[in-house]
Amino acid sequence: MPNDLSNRPTLPAEIARRRTFAIISHPDAGKTTLTEKFLLYGGAIQLAGQVRAKGEARRTRSDFMKMEQERGISVSASAMSFDYQEWRFNLVDTPGHSDFSEDTYRTLTAVDAAIMVIDGAKGVESQTRKLFEVCRLRDLPILTFCNKMDRESRDTFDIIDEIQQNLAIDVTPASWPIGMGRDFIGCYDILNDRLELMDRADRNRVAESIRIDGMDDPKLAEHVPPHLLEQLRDELEMARELLPPFDHKSFLEGHLTPIWFGSAINSFGVKELMQGIGKYGPPPQPQKAAERQILPEEEKVTGFVFKVQANMDPKHRDRVAFVRLASGHFQRGQKLFHVRSKKAMTVANPVLFLASDRELAEEGWAGDIIGIPNHGQLRIGDALTEGESLRFTGIPSFAPELLRTARAGDPMKAKHLEKALMQFAEEGAAKVFKPAIGSGFIVGVVGALQFDVLASRIESEYSLPVRFEASQFTSARWVTGPKTDVERFVAANKGHIAYDNDGDIVYLTRLQWDIDRIERDFPTLRLAATKEMH
Ligand code: GDP
Repeated sequence: MPNDLSNRPTLPAEIARRRTFAIISHPDAGKTTLTEKFLLYGGAIQLAGQVRAKGEARRTRSDFMKMEQERGISVSASAMSFDYQEWRFNLVDTPGHSDFSEDTYRTLTAVDAAIMVIDGAKGVESQTRKLFEVCRLRDLPILTFCNKMDRESRDTFDIIDEIQQNLAIDVTPASWPIGMGRDFIGCYDILNDRLELMDRADRNRVAESIRIDGMDDPKLAEHVPPHLLEQLRDELEMARELLPPFDHKSFLEGHLTPIWFGSAINSFGVKELMQGIGKYGPPPQPQKAAERQILPEEEKVTGFVFKVQANMDPKHRDRVAFVRLASGHFQRGQKLFHVRSKKAMTVANPVLFLASDRELAEEGWAGDIIGIPNHGQLRIGDALTEGESLRFTGIPSFAPELLRTARAGDPMKAKHLEKALMQFAEEGAAKVFKPAIGSGFIVGVVGALQFDVLASRIESEYSLPVRFEASQFTSARWVTGPKTDVERFVAANKGHIAYDNDGDIVYLTRLQWDIDRIERDFPTLRLAATKEMH
Protein backbone atom coordinates (compact mmCIF):
# COMPACT_ATOMS: atom_id res chain seq x y z
CA MET A 1 0.00 0.00 0.00
CA PRO A 2 1.47 3.35 -0.98
CA ASN A 3 0.17 4.92 2.22
CA ASP A 4 2.54 2.92 4.41
CA LEU A 5 4.71 5.98 4.08
CA SER A 6 2.27 8.10 5.99
CA ASN A 7 3.48 6.37 9.16
CA ARG A 8 -0.06 5.68 10.18
CA PRO A 9 -0.44 1.96 9.56
CA THR A 10 -2.91 1.70 12.43
CA LEU A 11 -5.57 3.96 10.92
CA PRO A 12 -9.01 2.34 10.89
CA ALA A 13 -9.99 1.50 7.32
CA GLU A 14 -12.77 4.08 7.23
CA ILE A 15 -10.32 6.85 8.07
CA ALA A 16 -7.50 5.49 5.91
CA ARG A 17 -9.69 5.68 2.79
CA ARG A 18 -10.50 9.38 3.22
CA ARG A 19 -8.86 12.11 1.18
CA THR A 20 -9.67 15.68 2.13
CA PHE A 21 -8.37 18.23 -0.33
CA ALA A 22 -8.91 21.57 -2.05
CA ILE A 23 -8.41 22.72 -5.62
CA ILE A 24 -6.34 25.84 -6.07
CA SER A 25 -6.18 27.73 -9.36
CA HIS A 26 -6.33 31.05 -11.10
CA PRO A 27 -9.85 32.00 -12.27
CA ASP A 28 -10.71 30.35 -15.60
CA ALA A 29 -8.12 27.59 -15.44
CA GLY A 30 -10.91 25.02 -15.16
CA LYS A 31 -11.56 24.41 -11.47
CA THR A 32 -15.34 24.29 -11.86
CA THR A 33 -15.14 21.98 -14.84
CA LEU A 34 -12.74 19.66 -13.03
CA THR A 35 -14.99 19.66 -9.94
CA GLU A 36 -17.93 18.67 -12.12
CA LYS A 37 -16.00 15.76 -13.57
CA PHE A 38 -14.93 14.60 -10.12
CA LEU A 39 -18.56 14.57 -9.07
CA LEU A 40 -19.55 12.84 -12.26
CA TYR A 41 -17.05 10.04 -11.71
CA GLY A 42 -17.93 10.03 -8.05
CA GLY A 43 -21.53 9.34 -9.01
CA ALA A 44 -22.67 12.39 -7.08
CA ILE A 45 -24.24 13.89 -10.20
CA GLN A 46 -25.56 12.21 -13.33
CA LEU A 47 -24.41 14.65 -15.96
CA ALA A 48 -21.59 17.10 -16.05
CA GLY A 49 -22.87 20.65 -16.17
CA GLN A 50 -25.16 20.20 -13.20
CA VAL A 51 -22.97 21.98 -10.74
CA ARG A 52 -23.07 25.03 -12.92
CA ALA A 53 -26.74 24.68 -13.83
CA LYS A 54 -27.70 24.42 -10.19
CA GLY A 55 -25.41 27.28 -9.35
CA GLU A 56 -27.13 29.46 -11.90
CA ALA A 57 -30.59 28.58 -10.68
CA ARG A 58 -29.49 29.61 -7.23
CA ARG A 59 -27.78 32.71 -8.48
CA THR A 60 -30.93 34.14 -10.03
CA ARG A 61 -32.32 34.29 -6.51
CA SER A 62 -29.88 36.79 -5.20
CA ASP A 63 -27.95 39.83 -6.32
CA PHE A 64 -24.98 38.68 -4.38
CA MET A 65 -24.76 35.58 -6.47
CA LYS A 66 -25.32 37.67 -9.57
CA MET A 67 -22.31 39.70 -8.69
CA GLU A 68 -20.35 36.57 -8.19
CA GLN A 69 -21.33 35.51 -11.68
CA GLU A 70 -20.65 38.89 -13.31
CA ARG A 71 -17.22 39.20 -11.86
CA GLY A 72 -16.39 35.60 -12.43
CA ILE A 73 -15.49 35.09 -8.81
CA SER A 74 -16.64 32.59 -6.33
CA VAL A 75 -17.20 33.92 -2.84
CA SER A 76 -19.13 31.14 -1.19
CA ALA A 77 -17.02 28.17 -0.33
CA SER A 78 -18.57 24.80 0.28
CA ALA A 79 -17.53 21.22 0.77
CA MET A 80 -18.52 18.17 -1.23
CA SER A 81 -18.16 14.48 -0.48
CA PHE A 82 -18.19 11.60 -2.93
CA ASP A 83 -16.88 8.08 -3.30
CA TYR A 84 -14.60 6.93 -6.06
CA GLN A 85 -13.33 3.37 -6.16
CA GLU A 86 -12.25 2.52 -2.63
CA TRP A 87 -11.82 6.14 -1.57
CA ARG A 88 -14.01 8.76 0.02
CA PHE A 89 -13.12 12.21 -1.25
CA ASN A 90 -13.93 15.40 0.61
CA LEU A 91 -13.41 18.33 -1.72
CA VAL A 92 -13.37 21.69 -0.01
CA ASP A 93 -13.97 24.54 -2.41
CA THR A 94 -11.74 27.59 -2.10
CA PRO A 95 -13.03 31.02 -3.08
CA GLY A 96 -11.07 32.09 -6.12
CA HIS A 97 -10.56 35.82 -5.86
CA SER A 98 -7.51 37.35 -4.24
CA ASP A 99 -9.63 39.65 -2.10
CA PHE A 100 -10.98 36.66 -0.28
CA SER A 101 -7.74 35.45 1.08
CA GLU A 102 -9.02 35.26 4.66
CA ASP A 103 -11.56 32.66 3.74
CA THR A 104 -9.12 30.87 1.54
CA TYR A 105 -6.43 30.66 4.18
CA ARG A 106 -8.90 29.23 6.63
CA THR A 107 -10.22 26.75 4.11
CA LEU A 108 -6.74 25.46 3.54
CA THR A 109 -6.43 24.70 7.26
CA ALA A 110 -9.14 22.06 6.81
CA VAL A 111 -7.50 19.98 4.07
CA ASP A 112 -4.64 17.48 3.88
CA ALA A 113 -3.67 18.06 0.24
CA ALA A 114 -4.32 20.35 -2.71
CA ILE A 115 -4.72 20.00 -6.45
CA MET A 116 -3.20 22.86 -8.39
CA VAL A 117 -4.92 23.38 -11.73
CA ILE A 118 -3.06 25.36 -14.37
CA ASP A 119 -4.04 26.32 -17.89
CA GLY A 120 -1.60 24.67 -20.33
CA ALA A 121 -1.42 27.86 -22.41
CA LYS A 122 -0.95 30.22 -19.48
CA GLY A 123 1.18 28.34 -16.98
CA VAL A 124 1.54 29.62 -13.43
CA GLU A 125 -0.69 32.69 -12.94
CA SER A 126 -0.80 35.19 -10.09
CA GLN A 127 -3.59 33.63 -8.07
CA THR A 128 -2.16 30.13 -8.44
CA ARG A 129 1.05 31.41 -7.03
CA LYS A 130 -0.53 33.07 -4.00
CA LEU A 131 -2.55 30.01 -3.14
CA PHE A 132 0.46 27.81 -3.65
CA GLU A 133 2.37 29.89 -1.10
CA VAL A 134 -0.37 29.29 1.44
CA CYS A 135 -0.17 25.56 0.81
CA ARG A 136 3.55 25.69 1.23
CA LEU A 137 3.23 27.38 4.62
CA ARG A 138 1.42 24.24 5.73
CA ASP A 139 3.66 21.84 3.74
CA LEU A 140 0.60 20.46 2.00
CA PRO A 141 1.26 17.82 -0.63
CA ILE A 142 0.30 19.18 -4.05
CA LEU A 143 -0.83 17.37 -7.18
CA THR A 144 -0.75 19.37 -10.39
CA PHE A 145 -3.25 19.13 -13.23
CA CYS A 146 -2.25 20.87 -16.46
CA ASN A 147 -5.58 21.55 -18.14
CA LYS A 148 -6.83 22.47 -21.62
CA MET A 149 -4.37 20.26 -23.47
CA ASP A 150 -6.96 20.00 -26.26
CA ARG A 151 -6.03 23.57 -27.13
CA GLU A 152 -2.72 25.00 -28.29
CA SER A 153 -0.62 24.94 -25.17
CA ARG A 154 2.96 25.55 -24.24
CA ASP A 155 5.75 23.06 -24.67
CA THR A 156 5.59 20.39 -21.95
CA PHE A 157 9.16 21.01 -20.73
CA ASP A 158 8.47 24.76 -20.63
CA ILE A 159 5.45 24.27 -18.42
CA ILE A 160 7.29 21.98 -16.03
CA ASP A 161 10.26 24.30 -15.97
CA GLU A 162 8.07 27.27 -15.18
CA ILE A 163 6.50 25.50 -12.21
CA GLN A 164 9.91 24.46 -10.90
CA GLN A 165 11.39 27.94 -11.29
CA ASN A 166 8.40 29.99 -10.32
CA LEU A 167 7.22 27.98 -7.34
CA ALA A 168 10.50 26.40 -6.31
CA ILE A 169 9.12 22.89 -6.15
CA ASP A 170 10.34 19.77 -7.96
CA VAL A 171 8.02 18.46 -10.65
CA THR A 172 7.75 14.88 -11.82
CA PRO A 173 5.57 13.89 -14.77
CA ALA A 174 2.86 11.38 -13.83
CA SER A 175 1.69 11.40 -17.43
CA TRP A 176 3.08 12.77 -20.67
CA PRO A 177 0.98 14.45 -23.38
CA ILE A 178 1.04 13.08 -26.92
CA GLY A 179 0.58 15.78 -29.53
CA MET A 180 -0.85 19.16 -28.74
CA GLY A 181 -3.90 21.27 -29.55
CA ARG A 182 -5.82 19.71 -32.42
CA ASP A 183 -3.26 16.92 -32.65
CA PHE A 184 -3.53 16.04 -28.98
CA ILE A 185 -4.55 12.39 -28.85
CA GLY A 186 -3.96 11.52 -25.23
CA CYS A 187 -1.26 10.78 -22.68
CA TYR A 188 1.22 8.14 -21.77
CA ASP A 189 0.50 7.28 -18.14
CA ILE A 190 4.03 7.02 -16.76
CA LEU A 191 3.06 5.78 -13.30
CA ASN A 192 1.02 2.86 -14.65
CA ASP A 193 2.53 2.22 -18.10
CA ARG A 194 -0.73 2.80 -19.88
CA LEU A 195 -1.77 4.61 -22.98
CA GLU A 196 -4.76 6.85 -22.38
CA LEU A 197 -6.54 8.00 -25.52
CA MET A 198 -8.96 10.89 -25.57
CA ASP A 199 -12.41 10.46 -26.99
CA ARG A 200 -13.35 13.80 -28.53
CA ALA A 201 -16.76 12.60 -29.59
CA ASP A 202 -18.24 12.20 -26.13
CA ARG A 203 -17.14 14.58 -23.41
CA ASN A 204 -18.70 12.62 -20.61
CA ARG A 205 -17.30 9.30 -21.58
CA VAL A 206 -14.35 7.81 -19.82
CA ALA A 207 -11.48 7.77 -22.29
CA GLU A 208 -10.03 4.60 -23.74
CA SER A 209 -7.22 3.05 -21.77
CA ILE A 210 -4.71 0.60 -23.22
CA ARG A 211 -2.34 -1.43 -21.12
CA ILE A 212 1.22 -1.11 -22.42
CA ASP A 213 4.28 -3.14 -21.56
CA GLY A 214 6.88 -0.39 -21.51
CA MET A 215 7.85 1.95 -24.32
CA ASP A 216 8.92 -0.93 -26.62
CA ASP A 217 5.47 -2.51 -26.66
CA PRO A 218 4.38 -2.87 -30.34
CA LYS A 219 0.85 -1.96 -29.27
CA LEU A 220 1.98 1.65 -29.04
CA ALA A 221 2.47 1.89 -32.79
CA GLU A 222 -1.05 0.61 -33.38
CA HIS A 223 -2.51 3.62 -31.62
CA VAL A 224 0.00 6.44 -31.96
CA PRO A 225 0.96 7.87 -35.40
CA PRO A 226 4.71 7.39 -36.16
CA HIS A 227 5.78 11.04 -35.86
CA LEU A 228 4.05 11.45 -32.50
CA LEU A 229 5.46 8.16 -31.25
CA GLU A 230 8.96 9.21 -32.13
CA GLN A 231 8.45 12.53 -30.37
CA LEU A 232 7.01 10.77 -27.31
CA ARG A 233 10.03 8.44 -27.10
CA ASP A 234 12.46 11.35 -27.35
CA GLU A 235 10.64 13.45 -24.82
CA LEU A 236 10.24 10.65 -22.31
CA GLU A 237 13.92 9.90 -22.53
CA MET A 238 14.76 13.52 -21.98
CA ALA A 239 12.30 13.72 -19.10
CA ARG A 240 13.96 10.72 -17.46
CA GLU A 241 17.32 12.46 -17.67
CA LEU A 242 16.18 15.92 -16.62
CA LEU A 243 13.37 15.42 -14.16
CA PRO A 244 13.24 13.65 -10.82
CA PRO A 245 11.37 10.34 -10.61
CA PHE A 246 8.24 10.11 -8.50
CA ASP A 247 9.14 9.87 -4.85
CA HIS A 248 6.26 9.32 -2.47
CA LYS A 249 7.96 10.70 0.62
CA SER A 250 9.03 13.91 -1.06
CA PHE A 251 5.52 14.35 -2.44
CA LEU A 252 3.97 13.90 1.02
CA GLU A 253 6.42 16.42 2.44
CA GLY A 254 5.39 18.98 -0.18
CA HIS A 255 8.74 19.08 -1.99
CA LEU A 256 7.70 17.32 -5.19
CA THR A 257 4.53 17.65 -7.23
CA PRO A 258 3.45 15.03 -9.74
CA ILE A 259 1.88 16.59 -12.85
CA TRP A 260 -0.92 15.11 -14.96
CA PHE A 261 -1.83 16.53 -18.35
CA GLY A 262 -5.42 16.50 -19.51
CA SER A 263 -8.55 18.27 -20.57
CA ALA A 264 -11.20 18.61 -17.92
CA ILE A 265 -13.91 19.52 -20.37
CA ASN A 266 -13.26 16.33 -22.31
CA SER A 267 -13.12 14.32 -19.08
CA PHE A 268 -9.59 13.47 -20.04
CA GLY A 269 -6.92 12.79 -17.42
CA VAL A 270 -9.42 13.27 -14.60
CA LYS A 271 -9.67 9.62 -13.64
CA GLU A 272 -5.88 9.28 -13.46
CA LEU A 273 -5.72 12.36 -11.27
CA MET A 274 -8.36 10.93 -8.93
CA GLN A 275 -6.46 7.68 -8.71
CA GLY A 276 -3.34 9.71 -8.01
CA ILE A 277 -4.95 11.40 -4.98
CA GLY A 278 -6.42 8.10 -3.86
CA LYS A 279 -3.25 6.06 -4.14
CA TYR A 280 -0.64 8.58 -3.08
CA GLY A 281 -2.55 11.35 -1.32
CA PRO A 282 -2.33 11.54 2.47
CA PRO A 283 -5.10 10.12 4.65
CA PRO A 284 -6.40 12.45 7.40
CA GLN A 285 -3.40 13.95 9.17
CA PRO A 286 -2.85 14.69 12.86
CA GLN A 287 -4.06 18.15 13.90
CA LYS A 288 -2.38 20.56 16.27
CA ALA A 289 -3.96 21.95 19.39
CA ALA A 290 -2.32 24.12 22.01
CA GLU A 291 -2.51 21.28 24.52
CA ARG A 292 -1.38 18.36 22.37
CA GLN A 293 -1.48 16.78 18.95
CA ILE A 294 -4.73 15.06 17.97
CA LEU A 295 -4.46 11.82 16.03
CA PRO A 296 -7.27 10.91 13.62
CA GLU A 297 -7.49 7.37 15.00
CA GLU A 298 -8.28 8.51 18.53
CA GLU A 299 -11.63 7.10 19.55
CA LYS A 300 -13.14 10.28 20.85
CA VAL A 301 -14.56 12.78 18.43
CA THR A 302 -12.89 16.15 18.07
CA GLY A 303 -13.24 18.79 15.38
CA PHE A 304 -12.85 22.49 14.68
CA VAL A 305 -14.91 25.11 12.88
CA PHE A 306 -13.00 26.58 9.94
CA LYS A 307 -15.82 28.40 8.25
CA VAL A 308 -19.22 29.82 9.08
CA GLN A 309 -21.66 30.61 6.37
CA ALA A 310 -24.97 32.36 6.87
CA ASN A 311 -28.03 32.33 4.69
CA MET A 312 -26.86 29.49 2.50
CA ASP A 313 -30.48 28.85 1.83
CA PRO A 314 -32.39 32.15 1.63
CA LYS A 315 -35.51 30.33 2.87
CA HIS A 316 -33.84 29.50 6.17
CA ARG A 317 -32.21 32.17 8.25
CA ASP A 318 -29.69 29.74 9.55
CA ARG A 319 -25.97 29.53 9.75
CA VAL A 320 -23.90 26.55 8.93
CA ALA A 321 -20.62 25.98 10.71
CA PHE A 322 -18.24 23.85 8.65
CA VAL A 323 -16.42 21.47 10.95
CA ARG A 324 -13.39 19.45 10.06
CA LEU A 325 -13.46 16.30 12.13
CA ALA A 326 -9.99 15.81 13.53
CA SER A 327 -10.54 12.45 15.22
CA GLY A 328 -12.98 9.71 15.97
CA HIS A 329 -16.26 8.46 14.59
CA PHE A 330 -19.06 10.95 14.86
CA GLN A 331 -22.69 9.86 14.84
CA ARG A 332 -25.79 11.90 14.29
CA GLY A 333 -27.46 12.93 17.49
CA GLN A 334 -24.19 12.79 19.38
CA LYS A 335 -23.70 15.25 22.22
CA LEU A 336 -20.52 17.26 21.84
CA PHE A 337 -18.80 19.67 24.17
CA HIS A 338 -18.49 23.20 22.82
CA VAL A 339 -15.21 24.23 24.37
CA ARG A 340 -15.56 28.03 24.14
CA SER A 341 -18.97 28.23 25.85
CA LYS A 342 -18.25 25.13 28.00
CA LYS A 343 -21.69 23.86 27.06
CA ALA A 344 -22.84 20.57 25.64
CA MET A 345 -24.60 20.67 22.30
CA THR A 346 -26.56 17.89 20.67
CA VAL A 347 -25.71 17.71 17.00
CA ALA A 348 -29.10 16.56 15.81
CA ASN A 349 -29.06 17.50 12.15
CA PRO A 350 -25.54 17.65 10.78
CA VAL A 351 -25.21 18.11 7.05
CA LEU A 352 -22.99 16.33 4.59
CA PHE A 353 -22.48 18.12 1.33
CA LEU A 354 -23.13 15.82 -1.55
CA ALA A 355 -22.62 17.68 -4.81
CA SER A 356 -24.51 20.92 -4.30
CA ASP A 357 -27.38 19.40 -2.35
CA ARG A 358 -27.36 19.17 1.37
CA GLU A 359 -27.98 15.84 2.93
CA LEU A 360 -28.31 14.79 6.55
CA ALA A 361 -25.17 13.13 7.78
CA GLU A 362 -25.68 9.95 9.76
CA GLU A 363 -22.02 9.66 10.59
CA GLY A 364 -18.64 11.14 9.90
CA TRP A 365 -15.06 10.04 10.41
CA ALA A 366 -11.87 11.95 11.04
CA GLY A 367 -11.10 13.87 7.85
CA ASP A 368 -14.74 14.52 6.96
CA ILE A 369 -16.31 17.93 6.78
CA ILE A 370 -19.74 18.21 8.32
CA GLY A 371 -22.01 21.22 8.42
CA ILE A 372 -23.72 22.05 11.69
CA PRO A 373 -26.73 24.34 11.39
CA ASN A 374 -26.87 26.72 14.35
CA HIS A 375 -28.04 30.16 15.39
CA GLY A 376 -24.70 31.78 15.90
CA GLN A 377 -23.20 29.76 18.77
CA LEU A 378 -20.49 28.26 16.58
CA ARG A 379 -17.69 30.57 15.53
CA ILE A 380 -14.58 30.18 13.43
CA GLY A 381 -11.86 28.44 15.43
CA ASP A 382 -14.26 26.80 17.90
CA ALA A 383 -13.43 23.30 19.06
CA LEU A 384 -15.93 20.49 19.60
CA THR A 385 -14.88 17.50 21.70
CA GLU A 386 -16.30 14.81 23.95
CA GLY A 387 -15.39 16.80 27.02
CA GLU A 388 -11.72 17.69 26.71
CA SER A 389 -10.78 21.37 26.62
CA LEU A 390 -8.84 21.74 23.42
CA ARG A 391 -7.75 24.80 21.49
CA PHE A 392 -6.88 24.03 17.88
CA THR A 393 -4.09 26.19 16.58
CA GLY A 394 -3.22 27.18 13.06
CA ILE A 395 -6.46 28.92 12.17
CA PRO A 396 -5.24 32.35 11.24
CA SER A 397 -6.79 35.65 12.19
CA PHE A 398 -6.25 38.73 10.06
CA ALA A 399 -5.63 42.37 10.80
CA PRO A 400 -8.24 44.54 9.07
CA GLU A 401 -6.36 46.73 6.62
CA LEU A 402 -9.18 48.90 5.33
CA LEU A 403 -11.73 50.65 7.54
CA ARG A 404 -14.95 52.29 6.42
CA THR A 405 -18.07 53.62 8.08
CA ALA A 406 -21.26 51.73 7.27
CA ARG A 407 -24.46 53.72 6.90
CA ALA A 408 -27.96 52.42 6.31
CA GLY A 409 -29.54 53.92 3.18
CA ASP A 410 -32.64 54.44 5.34
CA PRO A 411 -31.72 55.92 8.75
CA MET A 412 -34.77 54.22 10.31
CA LYS A 413 -33.13 50.88 9.58
CA ALA A 414 -30.00 51.30 11.67
CA LYS A 415 -30.98 48.40 13.97
CA HIS A 416 -31.38 46.09 11.01
CA LEU A 417 -28.01 47.11 9.72
CA GLU A 418 -26.47 46.31 13.10
CA LYS A 419 -27.93 42.82 12.94
CA ALA A 420 -26.65 42.24 9.42
CA LEU A 421 -23.17 43.51 10.25
CA MET A 422 -22.97 41.36 13.37
CA GLN A 423 -23.83 38.32 11.34
CA PHE A 424 -21.02 39.00 8.88
CA ALA A 425 -18.63 39.62 11.74
CA GLU A 426 -19.47 36.18 13.12
CA GLU A 427 -18.98 34.61 9.72
CA GLY A 428 -15.52 36.10 9.68
CA ALA A 429 -16.40 38.06 6.52
CA ALA A 430 -15.49 41.39 8.14
CA LYS A 431 -14.54 42.99 11.43
CA VAL A 432 -17.25 45.24 12.83
CA PHE A 433 -16.62 47.95 15.43
CA LYS A 434 -19.18 50.01 17.29
CA PRO A 435 -17.65 53.33 18.40
CA ALA A 436 -18.06 54.21 22.08
CA ILE A 437 -19.18 57.70 21.13
CA GLY A 438 -21.65 58.52 18.38
CA SER A 439 -23.62 56.29 16.10
CA GLY A 440 -22.84 54.05 13.15
CA PHE A 441 -20.42 51.22 12.65
CA ILE A 442 -16.92 50.90 11.39
CA VAL A 443 -16.22 47.91 9.23
CA GLY A 444 -12.76 46.51 8.65
CA VAL A 445 -11.76 44.18 5.81
CA VAL A 446 -8.63 42.82 4.22
CA GLY A 447 -9.44 43.55 0.56
CA ALA A 448 -11.51 46.39 -0.92
CA LEU A 449 -13.74 44.10 -2.93
CA GLN A 450 -15.09 42.71 0.35
CA PHE A 451 -17.03 45.99 0.84
CA ASP A 452 -18.86 45.40 -2.46
CA VAL A 453 -19.62 41.84 -1.49
CA LEU A 454 -20.92 42.93 1.93
CA ALA A 455 -23.08 45.70 0.46
CA SER A 456 -24.49 43.29 -2.06
CA ARG A 457 -25.23 40.61 0.51
CA ILE A 458 -26.80 43.05 2.98
CA GLU A 459 -29.03 44.31 0.23
CA SER A 460 -30.08 40.89 -0.99
CA GLU A 461 -30.33 39.06 2.33
CA TYR A 462 -31.76 41.89 4.46
CA SER A 463 -33.32 44.13 1.76
CA LEU A 464 -31.24 46.92 3.20
CA PRO A 465 -29.38 49.44 1.07
CA VAL A 466 -26.04 50.31 2.69
CA ARG A 467 -23.19 52.70 1.95
CA PHE A 468 -19.58 52.34 2.99
CA GLU A 469 -17.98 55.76 3.47
CA ALA A 470 -14.45 56.85 4.17
CA SER A 471 -13.66 56.60 7.86
CA GLN A 472 -11.47 58.98 9.86
CA PHE A 473 -9.59 55.92 11.10
CA THR A 474 -7.20 53.68 9.23
CA SER A 475 -6.14 51.07 11.76
CA ALA A 476 -7.51 49.07 14.64
CA ARG A 477 -5.81 47.51 17.67
CA TRP A 478 -7.31 45.15 20.22
CA VAL A 479 -6.50 46.36 23.71
CA THR A 480 -5.80 44.00 26.59
CA GLY A 481 -4.14 44.42 29.94
CA PRO A 482 -4.84 44.79 33.68
CA LYS A 483 -8.45 45.86 34.22
CA THR A 484 -7.80 49.19 35.94
CA ASP A 485 -5.22 50.22 33.35
CA VAL A 486 -7.60 49.38 30.54
CA GLU A 487 -10.35 51.43 32.19
CA ARG A 488 -8.03 54.38 32.66
CA PHE A 489 -6.97 54.09 29.05
CA VAL A 490 -10.56 53.91 27.76
CA ALA A 491 -11.61 56.96 29.81
CA ALA A 492 -8.70 58.98 28.45
CA ASN A 493 -9.27 58.00 24.80
CA LYS A 494 -13.06 57.86 24.42
CA GLY A 495 -13.06 59.29 20.89
CA HIS A 496 -10.86 56.43 19.67
CA ILE A 497 -12.54 53.55 21.43
CA ALA A 498 -14.88 51.03 19.86
CA TYR A 499 -16.17 47.56 20.67
CA ASP A 500 -16.08 44.54 18.39
CA ASN A 501 -18.90 42.02 18.04
CA ASP A 502 -17.72 40.16 21.14
CA GLY A 503 -17.69 43.41 23.14
CA ASP A 504 -13.90 43.47 23.23
CA ILE A 505 -12.16 46.82 23.31
CA VAL A 506 -10.57 48.18 20.16
CA TYR A 507 -8.50 51.31 19.73
CA LEU A 508 -9.00 53.10 16.38
CA THR A 509 -6.55 55.56 14.94
CA ARG A 510 -5.04 56.89 11.76
CA LEU A 511 -1.54 57.45 13.10
CA GLN A 512 1.16 54.99 13.96
CA TRP A 513 2.42 57.75 16.20
CA ASP A 514 -0.67 57.32 18.44
CA ILE A 515 0.06 53.65 18.84
CA ASP A 516 3.68 54.30 19.75
CA ARG A 517 2.61 56.92 22.26
CA ILE A 518 0.18 54.55 23.97
CA GLU A 519 2.79 51.86 24.20
CA ARG A 520 5.00 54.40 25.94
CA ASP A 521 2.31 55.91 28.22
CA PHE A 522 0.57 52.64 29.06
CA PRO A 523 3.35 50.04 29.20
CA THR A 524 1.09 47.42 30.79
CA LEU A 525 -1.33 47.38 27.85
CA ARG A 526 -1.05 45.16 24.84
CA LEU A 527 -2.17 46.53 21.47
CA ALA A 528 -2.63 43.75 18.95
CA ALA A 529 -3.35 44.07 15.23
CA THR A 530 -5.14 40.73 15.18
CA LYS A 531 -7.40 39.16 17.69
CA GLU A 532 -6.77 35.63 18.79
CA MET A 533 -9.62 33.51 17.48
CA HIS A 534 -10.16 32.74 21.15
P1 GDP B 1 -12.73 28.16 -13.20
O1 GDP B 1 -12.89 29.65 -13.27
O2 GDP B 1 -11.32 27.79 -12.85
O3 GDP B 1 -13.72 27.47 -12.36
O4 GDP B 1 -12.87 27.64 -14.71
P2 GDP B 1 -14.07 26.92 -15.45
O5 GDP B 1 -14.14 25.50 -15.11
O6 GDP B 1 -15.29 27.75 -15.31
O7 GDP B 1 -13.52 26.97 -16.95
C1 GDP B 1 -13.22 28.21 -17.58
C2 GDP B 1 -13.46 28.07 -19.07
O8 GDP B 1 -12.55 27.12 -19.62
C3 GDP B 1 -14.86 27.55 -19.38
O9 GDP B 1 -15.32 28.21 -20.54
C4 GDP B 1 -14.63 26.07 -19.64
O10 GDP B 1 -15.58 25.53 -20.54
C5 GDP B 1 -13.24 26.09 -20.28
N1 GDP B 1 -12.53 24.81 -20.10
C6 GDP B 1 -12.42 24.08 -18.97
N2 GDP B 1 -11.68 22.97 -19.19
C7 GDP B 1 -11.31 23.01 -20.49
C8 GDP B 1 -10.55 22.14 -21.32
O11 GDP B 1 -10.06 21.08 -20.94
N3 GDP B 1 -10.38 22.55 -22.60
C9 GDP B 1 -10.91 23.68 -23.12
N4 GDP B 1 -10.68 23.98 -24.37
N5 GDP B 1 -11.63 24.52 -22.36
C10 GDP B 1 -11.84 24.19 -21.06
